[in-house]
Amino acid sequence: MKKINWYPPVILGLLALLVVTFGALVVSRTDQVQTVTSIENAGQQTFEWKLVTTWPKNFPGLGSAPERFAKNVAKMSNGRLKIKVYGAGELVPAMGVFGAVSDGAAQVGHGAAYYWKGKVPAAQFFTAVPFGLNAQEMNGWLHYGGGLELWEELYAPFDLIPMAGGSTGVQMAGWFNREINSVDDLKGLKMRIPGLGGEVLNRAGGTAITIPGGELYTALQTGVIDATEWVGPYNDLAFGFHQIAQYYYYPGWHEPGSILEIIVNKTAFEKLPEDLQAIVRTAARDANQDMLDEYTARNNRALKELVEEHGIELRKLPDSVIAHLKAINHQIMEEAAAKDPQFNRVYQAFKEFEAQVIPYHRISEEAYYQTREIELP
Ligand code: CA
Repeated sequence: MKKINWYPPVILGLLALLVVTFGALVVSRTDQVQTVTSIENAGQQTFEWKLVTTWPKNFPGLGSAPERFAKNVAKMSNGRLKIKVYGAGELVPAMGVFGAVSDGAAQVGHGAAYYWKGKVPAAQFFTAVPFGLNAQEMNGWLHYGGGLELWEELYAPFDLIPMAGGSTGVQMAGWFNREINSVDDLKGLKMRIPGLGGEVLNRAGGTAITIPGGELYTALQTGVIDATEWVGPYNDLAFGFHQIAQYYYYPGWHEPGSILEIIVNKTAFEKLPEDLQAIVRTAARDANQDMLDEYTARNNRALKELVEEHGIELRKLPDSVIAHLKAINHQIMEEAAAKDPQFNRVYQAFKEFEAQVIPYHRISEEAYYQTREIELP
């Protein structure tokens, strides 16, 4: 019987199989090792960011939001993302925040969108619209009603990502050294009032002036302005406006639910691993809600102190004045929408959300406010 020599091909085949299998194992191990290494690197990489604000450092209320945001980001990221907060004027002036974050000179900014109306008129919708949405409604519109997406579109050409970074609730109409009894009293009134509210005052015959927070006290004290709005009792008491103004008017028709903003340089944000991006977004959301909670708890106490201890005169703007301002506001909004397609787009979306939320709030929030005013029999 002829012996078949089948060993060499089988051995060669087995060897080839071994080489392929081993090779594949090595490749797959190398892949795993590389994946693990890159995750470890991402986990260890640290980032140092600068945050610029439109408020002086540690400014009561508004200025504590960026500090809280930076602290939370550092804690949640275990120090992997450190954010140093600079007050207005330390790195850039108050009104230079948008430009500095857009250019990447700083990676984050804290301020208010309506300060940038000269660059983006439609940005004003993302702070406050006179006679518009309150805090609860603004937050609903931004986070579940398509508002934030519109805001992101507006800021994308500036390499910026906007986030809500503070919510004040209904503000006060402001501090006046002049009585407002009729629409005629608005004529010649020099008042610090930013955004759309300022445009309304201008058309009512006054002069709206935008002054950064840090310069307001002196401006009112020296008579450069006759009146100023700021936020509400808690913030205003800390400011000391009661020492230099006679009348404290309400309601804040011009800022019914203002949203502060955190702006992040988009290029810098995209360099962060996903977990740090989520931390930044979560810390912003926290700052936004925290401000509203703090004001809700502290405004009423501060108002009591202003009236009872400092003897300020609390006054309501007459209905005739409010109606006049409301009519002017409507004209201004319609005209701005006719001029600027971007403004119009946001305006239509804003009105659409209003049309949904107002009827519901009429039978929920508003009806409840009335219900609790009913006196016991
Ligand atoms: Ca204000």
